[in-house]
Amino acid sequence: MQCPHDHSALEYRQKENVVGHVCKACQGIFLTAKGVKWFKLNYETDVLAAIPKDCLVVKSAICCPNCNSTMSLVNVDGIEIDVCKHCTGIWFDLDEVAKIIERYGSNKGQEKEGWDVLGDVLSWLIGIGL
Ligand SMILES: [Zn+2]
Ligand SMILES: [Zn+2]
Repeated sequence: MQCPHDHSALEYRQKENVVGHVCKACQGIFLTAKGVKWFKLNYETDVLAAIPKDCLVVKSAICCPNCNSTMSLVNVDGIEIDVCKHCTGIWFDLDEVAKIIERYGSNKGQEKEGWDVLGDVLSWLIGIGL
């Protein structure tokens, strides 16, 4: 798989059931459908379903690293993520990862679900969480 921005090879990361693909060049992160499914199973939160229905969706400038479909740019509360409606993969740019970690990362109490967990997972994927 290649980074949709700079075409560097994405690096596969796995820890327990968490799977992610990280670009070493721009530190973007791609979660495949498997990664998204993991959230659903473990936290009963579907990351895609958790996205509010009324958030802004526009056609993204990038193509899915997994299936090459044009992704959809979704604005969730000021955070822009690229969602592939074809294979349900999700791409996060470094800026957006930083926002998610800042807003939903750890040390926000014990009750964790959905986006909170996502913040922790993304910080782990780019290697700053542990
Ligand atoms: Zn990249
Ligand atoms: Zn896709």
